[in-house]
Amino acid sequence: MRRNTTQRMAIEEVFRQNDRPLGVDEVLAYGRKLVESLNQATVYRNLKLLVDDGRLKRVTHPSLGTMYERTGKGHHHHFYCRACNHAYELPGCALNEDEIAPDGFVVEDHDVFLFGICPSCVR
Ligand SMILES: [Zn+2]
Ligand SMILES: [Zn+2]
Repeated sequence: MRRNTTQRMAIEEVFRQNDRPLGVDEVLAYGRKLVESLNQATVYRNLKLLVDDGRLKRVTHPSLGTMYERTGKGHHHHFYCRACNHAYELPGCALNEDEIAPDGFVVEDHDVFLFGICPSCVR
């Protein structure tokens, strides 16, 4: 019990320190600096618990797979840097769903991923 709580707090701390979508491998790598005993199974289990608690949510991309980010930020888009393989959150939305979808399509939601090079890799 005590151990699980520590692991979960470490994972939440990882997301506080790295405020962007993180894959399981990234959570594991950063989390191990805080709690050495973390392994992939404990990370998966705690990520699921944090999603169930509404503290994290999944960001799923067809080829990048599943990442996790903190909840409570409202609708936003994502940017993926091909150089450092980091995903970033882009605030806001300039997409007009009604203009993009042809007649007859009922849009319920959208997710936008931009790809490119992030500012720290451009330098
Ligand atoms: Zn980058
Ligand atoms: Zn949007």
